[in-house]
Amino acid sequence: MNTYVEKRVPITSCMGKLPIGIVFTDTDGSNPRIVRNITYRKISHNDIKRIHDREYMKSHPFKWAAMVMSTVVDNIGGVPVWSEFESGKMKYSAVPDIVKQLSNGDITFILFCGHIFNFGTPVNEIESVCTNCEKTNKKNIDLKNVEVVRFVDENDKDFDMIDLDIKLEDGYRFKSSEDDGEITYTNFVMDIPTLGAAIKYESLYQPNNQGPFYEKVYGDLIKRIYGDKGEIDANKIKMIGGVQIFNNITASDSRLIEKAINEAPRTEVALNEVCDYCSKDMDIIVTGGFLYPRR
Ligand SMILES: [Zn+2]
Repeated sequence: MNTYVEKRVPITSCMGKLPIGIVFTDTDGSNPRIVRNITYRKISHNDIKRIHDREYMKSHPFKWAAMVMSTVVDNIGGVPVWSEFESGKMKYSAVPDIVKQLSNGDITFILFCGHIFNFGTPVNEIESVCTNCEKTNKKNIDLKNVEVVRFVDENDKDFDMIDLDIKLEDGYRFKSSEDDGEITYTNFVMDIPTLGAAIKYESLYQPNNQGPFYEKVYGDLIKRIYGDKGEIDANKIKMIGGVQIFNNITASDSRLIEKAINEAPRTEVALNEVCDYCSKDMDIIVTGGFLYPRR
């Protein structure tokens, strides 16, 4: 089991280190280690035009995020990002592999840090609807107030998450053959969701979280299922199908999985302000469309 304690740090104090990072291995797949060093680049006027393609942002939110990552990042752990994105045959459309390996929890962080690197911390005229009076406010905010929420394993000096080990309450019941009885397995070992997994199922994504998008993404992330009486290995999981597994666990267990995934380090995107019209506190949600100003 992973155990975490919450630690909040201002984004400006940790720009060069990804909250989650990417697992690097040797070429034969051995020696897994987490790499977190990231370097940004100065973007051009042309890059800004690509970033502000509103249609693309709406129709392909994950591919759009991958394009922005590939544009604002020079390298991750020494592996080139921008130069590969720019020089590839499919100029500006083939996303470098390392960008697809980025964890979803690192995406917002990079989006903000890329903006800070190029324009500093102020972001002007963010439009936000007050949940109390429903009027639209235009606010100038400062990204130096954004916090990175890191959950550090109490047993570790530094955060080191290669996979998630999630203990369920009810567990997954499985009968491996006609002769065997049903066995209940209580632990799921899962990868952290990546941008690549989200891109793969992007056509199923709906902003209101309806539809099979999350089941598909989460289903692909299951690496191992185990319990007191043995385990179901990766091959068998593939045979059953991740979505099938998700459809057969209890609703409360699927909530435990979602909770474990959401506890991964992340950047808090909401900043607190007071509504200009009703003076109540309101959260300003900083989304990609407001960053990287056109002029
Ligand atoms: Zn209001």
